Formats: sequence, C-alpha cells, structure tokens
Amino acid sequence: MADIEKAPVVQLQDLDFGFRNEVAAEPGGEMIRYCFQCGTCTASCPVRAVEDRFNPRRIIRMAILGMKREVLNSSFIWLCSSCYACQQRCPQGVKITGIMAALKNLAVRNRIVPAMFSGQVASLKAHGRVYEVSELENEKRAKIGLPQITEMPQEIRTILEMTCAEELARGGSPPAAPAPPQPAAGAPKGGA
Ligand code: SF4
Ligand code: SF4
Repeated sequence: MADIEKAPVVQLQDLDFGFRNEVAAEPGGEMIRYCFQCGTCTASCPVRAVEDRFNPRRIIRMAILGMKREVLNSSFIWLCSSCYACQQRCPQGVKITGIMAALKNLAVRNRIVPAMFSGQVASLKAHGRVYEVSELENEKRAKIGLPQITEMPQEIRTILEMTCAEELARGGSPPAAPAPPQPAAGAPKGGA
C-alpha cells in the first residue's frame, strides 16, 4: 500500500480524468464533484486526531484530479471508520463517508485489498467470525452458564454468499455497481 503523502509529483499523462466519474458512479460517491475543498471534513475527522497524515479533503481532491493509482493504492482510504462526522458537517452535502466506501469498493474491484482485511474475511469464511472460538473458550463459557458458540452460524453463511465475501477474501471483484442515481434538482454546485 502506498503512502499518498509521499507522492508529491505526478505526471500529467499518469492522471485518469475519468476517475471522478468512476467514483460518482458508485453508491455514495455521487456528490464528489461538489467538493470545494473547504477542509471541514478533515477538521471534523476523529481519525485525523490520531493520524495527522489522514486527510479526507486531500483524498477527495486527488480523486477529482484523476490520481487513481495513488488513491486506490493508498492505505489511508482503509483508515476511515465510517463515523459520519465529516458527512454531517460538509457544507456542500458531499457524502464523504460514502466516497470512502466507494473508493474501497473500487480498490477491491482493482484487486487491491490490504492483507489484514482479506485475512479477516477468510477467517469469517472459515469460522463465521473474525477469529476462531476454541474448545477451551467454550468450556469457560459453559462454566459460567453461557451458551456454546458454534462455528459458522447460518446467518453468517447467508451474508457471505449474498455479499460475495469469498471473492473479497481472495482480493477479487464484487458485483458491479448499480447505475448511479441522478442528482436532485437544485443540488449545490461547485467542485474542482
Ligand atoms: S468534502 Fe465537503 S467538507 Fe470536505 S473539503 Fe469538500 S466541501 Fe469541504
Ligand atoms: S467518516 Fe471517515 S473520513 Fe469522515 S470523519 Fe469519520 S473517519 Fe473521518
């Protein structure tokens, strides 16, 4: 995974000017063009408070400029905790949390999945949980009257099947995104 802070020089021919449209075509990414770079999102972000290199405003700007390779390979898009603090405060109504999810989906579609996440999905596939519950843990639970935890509950199996999580575990491609909804009449204008 690349560190976008370390990519200050970009050649014009390396830009993908259609990238903003790709993001806008993803559910949640529709409003990306309305960002006018005020920085409210970055100032509101709790992740930013502990990792000052995480900068949602910058990520959105890079996406709008067409820095597809740098954005999709950035470990920063995976740091967003989907808390919605930024989205609640954006004066342009940009769905920043949705954009972060859209970028993650596009990364997965381009087979860029951090090993930590594919490993968690692989564990879900194997055990129905992100970690294996051992016999010893179930014995401890039984001693204090808690029910046994069984491997792979049917609900988890159904979710995995419906969300193509097995593909994600392999860093593969989830289903294609549905057609993007049209912006509402009178939506705010702006962006780069
Ligand atoms: S996404 Fe919204 S809050 Fe963030 S920089 Fe753009 S306009 Fe400002
Ligand atoms: S949704 Fe993500 S980018 Fe927005 S404030 Fe929360 S952690 Fe930061």
